[in-house]
Amino acid sequence: MSFKSVAIDGPAGAGKSTLARQLAGRLGFLYVDTGAIYRTVALAVLRAGADPADESQVVSLLEGLDIRMGYGEDGAQRMYLNGEDVSGAIREHRVSGAASKSSALPAVRAFLLDFQRRQAREHSVVMDGRDIGTVVLPGADVKIFLTAAPEARARRRLLELEQRGEQADFEAVLRDIKERDWQDEHRPAAPLKRAEDAALLDTTSMNLEQSLEGLLALVKEKIGQ
Ligand code: C5P
Repeated sequence: MSFKSVAIDGPAGAGKSTLARQLAGRLGFLYVDTGAIYRTVALAVLRAGADPADESQVVSLLEGLDIRMGYGEDGAQRMYLNGEDVSGAIREHRVSGAASKSSALPAVRAFLLDFQRRQAREHSVVMDGRDIGTVVLPGADVKIFLTAAPEARARRRLLELEQRGEQADFEAVLRDIKERDWQDEHRPAAPLKRAEDAALLDTTSMNLEQSLEGLLALVKEKIGQ
C-alpha cells in the first residue's frame, strides 16, 4: 500500500495548524503537527531548568526523553512527555519562545527527523511545519507554502488569545511574530524557506473557508483527491 503525503510549511500564525487539520479531515489522512513535537522538546528543556539555546545542555537531556504522539477521541493530536499529556502545557507563550530557540539546534532537528518521517511511512499524512517540504519529506506528493502578511497573522493570533481569555496587545503580538519569523528564517539548520517545487498560498485576504478551498484545489491538482 502506498501512502500519500502533503507537506505544508510556512511562518507562525499563517493558519497552518487549523487548515492542515481540516485538510487532513477532508482527505481522511493523519494530521501531524510537527510544531507540537518541537514544543514538547522545549517544554522538557524548560522544566529541566536548562537553556533552550545551549546545545550541550539540551543534548544531554534528549536521550532521556520519552516523546509520544497520540490522537484523542475528537481526532485532535495529543503530545505525551514521559507519559504525561502535555498538549495544553506546550501552548504556553514561554514554550513558543523556547521552541523557536531549541529548534534551531541541529541536534534537536536530527533527533526529531526520524520520528517525523516514520509517521509518513506508516500513514497518509498532512504534515505541517517549517522544513517539511525541504528536509523532512522532500519527496512529498504535494508541497504547499502557506503564508500571510505579518499584520494579518498578528490579528488572527490576537483573536485566538482573546478567545482563550488571555490579555494581549497587537503591537506586542506583531513584534513577537516578526521575531519568530526572523529566527526561523535565519537559523543555519533547516531555515524556513519555500521549497522550489512548493505551491504558494497567501491567505492575507482569505478567510478560513477560502484558504481551505485553496488547499483542496492544490491537492486535487497534484494527487486527484
Ligand atoms: O508551529 P509552531 O508555532 O507550533 O512551532 C513552534 C516552533 O517550532 C517554531 O517557532 C519553529 O521554530 C519550530 N518548528 C520548527 N520546525 C518545524 C515545526 C516547528 O523548527 N517543522
